[in-house]
Formats: sequence, C-alpha cells, structure tokens
Amino acid sequence: MSTALVWFRQDLRCSDNPAFAAACNHHQFVVPLYIQDNQTLLLGEAQKWWIHHSLLALKQKLRQHGLTLVLRRGVATEIITQLVREHSIDAVYWNRCYEPAAIACDFMIKESLEKKEIQVFTSNASLLNEPWEIKNKSGDYYKVFTPYWKHCLKQHHHEQPICIQGNPHGVDVYGDQLSDWFLLPKKINWAAEFGQHWQPGEDGAQMRLDAFISDRLRGYKEARNVPAKSATSTLSPHLHFGEISPWKIRTAIDFAMLDKNGDLASADRFLSEIGWREFSYHLLYHFPALPYANFKPQFDAFPWKNDAQHIESWKRGLTGYPIVDAGMRELWRTGYMHNRVRMIVASFLTKHLLVDWRIGADWFLTTLLDADLANNSASWQWVAGSGADAAPYFRIFNPIIQSEKFDPTGEYIRRWVPELANIASKWIHQPSRAPKDELGLIIGRDYPAPIVEHEQARKLALMQYRLIRNKTQAV
Ligand SMILES: Cc1cc2nc3c(=O)[nH]c(=O)nc-3n(C[C@H](O)[C@H](O)[C@H](O)COP(=O)(O)OP(=O)(O)OC[C@H]3O[C@@H](n4cnc5c(N)ncnc54)[C@H](O)[C@@H]3O)c2cc1C
Repeated sequence: MSTALVWFRQDLRCSDNPAFAAACNHHQFVVPLYIQDNQTLLLGEAQKWWIHHSLLALKQKLRQHGLTLVLRRGVATEIITQLVREHSIDAVYWNRCYEPAAIACDFMIKESLEKKEIQVFTSNASLLNEPWEIKNKSGDYYKVFTPYWKHCLKQHHHEQPICIQGNPHGVDVYGDQLSDWFLLPKKINWAAEFGQHWQPGEDGAQMRLDAFISDRLRGYKEARNVPAKSATSTLSPHLHFGEISPWKIRTAIDFAMLDKNGDLASADRFLSEIGWREFSYHLLYHFPALPYANFKPQFDAFPWKNDAQHIESWKRGLTGYPIVDAGMRELWRTGYMHNRVRMIVASFLTKHLLVDWRIGADWFLTTLLDADLANNSASWQWVAGSGADAAPYFRIFNPIIQSEKFDPTGEYIRRWVPELANIASKWIHQPSRAPKDELGLIIGRDYPAPIVEHEQARKLALMQYRLIRNKTQAV
C-alpha cells in the first residue's frame, strides 16, 4: 500500500494532468493538496476571485475521483514536509512552475524530500517546450521571437495526454475551509461583473476552446486586432492557471485543420500567439530579472517622469484619449483587456506620459485575471522598447490613429466609455477637437480634456530616448 501527495499549483485540472495521473496510476492512496503560499507564486488582487472559483471547480472534479482537495496556507516546504511525516507519504508529485521564486522553492523541497528518501516526480504540464529545451546554434537561448518559434515548430514531440487508469482512495487529512481564505472582495465588490464574463475551472476552459474553434478560429488572423469583436480565444486566464494545457489546444487546432476548408493562416497565427507565451517563459527562465530589470540595460538611464496625477488618470481611464480610457475601464470591469488595446495603453503610459513600464506592469498584475509574470513582464518590456525583440522605442503609437484603424465606428469605445456613447462617429476618437455645439457634452466636465497633447508628448519622448541612446553610444 503506498500513498502519494499531489501538489496542485498552476495546473488546476484533473484531465491531461501528468502529475495527478501518474499519482493515481501508481498509488493506492492519493492526497491532492493546494497551498496558498504568497511567497512563491504571483497572485494578483483580481486573481483571488479567479482562484476561489477555480479551486471550487477543482474540488468538484476531484470528488468525482473520490478524492478531497486539501487546502493549506503557509510556507510550502513546511506544509509538505509536515504532511509527508504525519501521513506516511511515499511519493510527492507536482507539475513544474517557471517563475524564479517557484523554481527556487521546488529545488529546496525536492532536495529536502529526497534526503528523507521520499520519491519526487515532477512533470511539464503547461508548456509545449520547456525553457531549457530550445537553444540556438551557439547553444545560447533565443532573444528574437521568429527564429525561436521556427525552431519550436520543428520539435515534433507531441505530448500524449496520460489516461487515469488507477482508482486510488482518499486519505483523511485536515484542511482549511476555502471561505476562511477570504479571497472574494468584501467591502466594495469590484469583481461584481467578473462572473458574467468568466467561468473558472477546466470545464470553462474546454468550453472556451470549443467555442473559439467552432465560431472564431476562421478569420482570427484579421479579426484578432479589432477590440469590438470577440474574435480571440480569451483562454489566457485558463492557460495561466493551468485549467487547460497548450498541448490540448494545439491538438484541437491541428484536428480542426484536418478539415480541407480550414483557415490555415489563422490557425498558424493563433499558434504563434501561443508561441509568444512560450517565448515569454523562455525569456523569464534565462533572464529571471525580467519582471524588474530592463532587458536592454541602456534603458536604466531613461529619465521617467512618473507624474502621480498622470498615473492615476491612466489607471482610472480618465486620460481624455477615448481608446485608452475604454481599455482601462474594460480592465477594471472585466479583469481583461483586448491585446491591441493593451499595446495602446502601455505605449501611451510609457511614451506619452513617460511613466516607467514597471508601474504599468504592476497595475496589470493587480487587475488582470490572466496576470502572468512571464507574459506581462515580456509584453511590457516589448512595448516600452527595453525588452528582447522589442518594438523600437522611436515607434510611438498615435492613440488616435490606432483608434480610427482598429475601432473605426467607435463601438468598443462606446461600450466602455458610456459618456461618449452618443457622440457622432467623426468625433469619437478625439472628442476634444469637436465644436462645442456638435458634441452634446462638455469636455473637461463630462469627459476629460486630453492630459497631454499627442505631438508634444511624442517629441519629448523621442528627445529623451535620443539622450539615453547617445549616452550609451558615448560609453
Ligand atoms: C502590456 C501587455 C501586458 C500583457 N500582460 C499579459 C499577462 O499578464 N498575461 C497574459 O496571459 N498575457 C498578457 N499579454 C498578452 C496578451 O495581451 C494576452 O495574452 C491576450 O490578450 C489574451 O487574450 P486571448 O486569450 O483572447 O488571446 P489569443 O489571441 O486568443 O491568444 C491565445 C493565447 O496566446 C497567448 N498570448 C497571446 N498573445 C500573447 C502575447 N503577446 N504574449 C504572450 N502570450 C500571448 C495567451 O496565453 C493567449 O491566451 C499582455 C500584452 C501586453 C501588450
């Protein structure tokens, strides 16, 4: 008779979960464990809502296997060591995480358990390729996406989902009540609308994938940039919490492409977005300072202004640039923002307002349901120009042109900025330019005047950039 402990983290699913399946297949007793350990894995404020519901869903799934999810709070090393001792556990299983603090923690736990002759089995449940598997010709890691992804596509080892054949019994282990973790907002319920948009858990993830493939994969390549259309998969929070694996997604896309009328260009484009996720993990693994240090050190000398009032206006969606304000309000209400708009608001913050990208990245980590240390850090550095394979700093998005191009009728703006809902389409992208009697509202009272003027802001940003470029060239 042997007992295994399965430590769930960013793999909150029972199906296609290598650690869980292996434990069920090789042991008579299984203890499924989730630890709330604030020191090792990032959990943003909005994500507390997600994890609450995702744990409820996982609990239910485990119950179908006759198992009870054990919840504990505290330091993972101590909790696991204590459970192993108290319940005569023979083996511990987990799926690997890739945030630097989690890697360090895993290493410590593994070493300490192996010293006690407890077997440890770890697996990959969340990436197509683990960060150390892909190397360039010089044996180094990739810093540019296109060759990285070409290399990945050549790796043809498709991981097969492991079937659960065993039927282990549960063990009576003391655990916390989820409600005692107080993960849901109390005084002000800022998450009130989240439930209308999301269903955390593996069933919710599967439904999103199915709906995406049947309704939106065709045409994704073009429509993915239009924020008013629901044209993307919105799988990001499910992927972050491991409620679905990228293997499952890739297999489903490949299967859909067996149809001779399949939209191959869109399928390739979609898979390359999954590729950007992989690339971000690759970068974080090889450059663990990615969340706080400029990948390009020349940006260390950048004279960020960090004006407190500007930052506040940006967070609240009160910049006077309708597309920026729509994005920031979508984020607050739904815990999500469309990718095109993320690029626009991030560019506006770093280049128009000269605010350090780390301040924007922090706000995203607090408010996004898909907040992900790898994707968020890599994306912010990409937009700011300080990252690997980044958009050049001198390419500054014009928020009005972006708005006209990607939200031509203003449908997205009207949805999230209700005070502009009824203004004429020709003024929707820059209402402050409209003659007073044509607008039906007063700029500065009903909707803010622009907090900076685009052309001036652009010139100032370019001047600051030239300064750091010249400084580094002079060194
Ligand atoms: C400033 C900024 C911050 C961002 N922060 C995050 C974050 O914290 N968490 C996060 O998951 N994504 C982040 N992204 C990337 C991207 O915006 C989201 O992954 C995407 O909008 C999620 O929507 P979707 O699932 O419908 O995407 P789809 O278009 O359906 O793409 C499928 C999947 O590919 C991955 N993906 C797509 N685009 C990217 C990208 N540019 N980089 C990395 N992975 C990508 C996501 O896992 C996504 O679910 C950020 C982008 C920017 C510009």
